[in-house]
Amino acid sequence: MPKRKNIPEPEDDLKFIDVHCHLPFPRPKNDNLPSNREQYLDFFKLGGKYLITSSIDLQTLNMTLDFMKEHSKNFGFTCGWAPQTVTYTPKNKHDQNWKKWLEFVKSHPETYLGIGEIGLDFHHAKTLEKRNRQIEVLEKIFEMTKNLDKPYILHVRSAAKHEFDPQNPKHRFNKIDGANKEILRILKKYKIKAKKVMWHCFSGPEEYGKILPNQGFSLSVPSSAFGFERWQKVTKSSPLQSLMTETDSYYQHPFKRGPINVPSNVRYSIAAIAYTHNVSQQKVSDITVENAIKFFDLKIT
Ligand SMILES: [Zn+2]
Repeated sequence: MPKRKNIPEPEDDLKFIDVHCHLPFPRPKNDNLPSNREQYLDFFKLGGKYLITSSIDLQTLNMTLDFMKEHSKNFGFTCGWAPQTVTYTPKNKHDQNWKKWLEFVKSHPETYLGIGEIGLDFHHAKTLEKRNRQIEVLEKIFEMTKNLDKPYILHVRSAAKHEFDPQNPKHRFNKIDGANKEILRILKKYKIKAKKVMWHCFSGPEEYGKILPNQGFSLSVPSSAFGFERWQKVTKSSPLQSLMTETDSYYQHPFKRGPINVPSNVRYSIAAIAYTHNVSQQKVSDITVENAIKFFDLKIT
């Protein structure tokens, strides 16, 4: 367990937006989390302004649309096809569901706020073949959606040193920024504007916390930045104007391990940013809420 730093707890009167969580989501039985509805209600009770969930495949898209029949006030979703979905779904099922997903994305752009999470994950895809497959699907997504003028939410995870593919040790993917570089290459190829792109749960490497905002990209800081130094380090040099806040719940708990996080914990992202940037929580709250409203063109009622 990493040492927990002594950061001030979130203040009581913050307003906040969670730009990325997973609610509803397939959950293990007896996970001890409040119900989806309770999580939704708590979020607004504590000062939430807008809650954005993210689907990752066809199943979670359908769950989300269903949940939104009863819970649509200040709640929206981004429509995603996660790199893990590409890697872990058997090919037949993947290609079948992919067609339905793409059909939905093209025919119902008014129902969702952005496209994502999409991206590359070289931790989950460890071989060259699996990595190339993720790239192939990601390129198709940009090709088919670039004219929709929607924001993109990226999941980008490069391989750690011990995950470099031993069959192809010299390959460009086997660098600590291998996935970052590949994403930048693809965005350029499809002429996707940086101001339309958010790197969700931004994980570094550290110098990218400066490089990406300089190019106009937005980064979102997970609630786990409160208790885990590695999540603080990567955005400590990023300008506040480029940052948003998320929980990625039920992942990324502020200071515990395991799938036990809830959207109202996004207040801990604010506390973490206030700490790394040495400014008031109130200021971080104001700026990150404004950033999210602008980026997603949110209509708060
Ligand atoms: Zn996520």
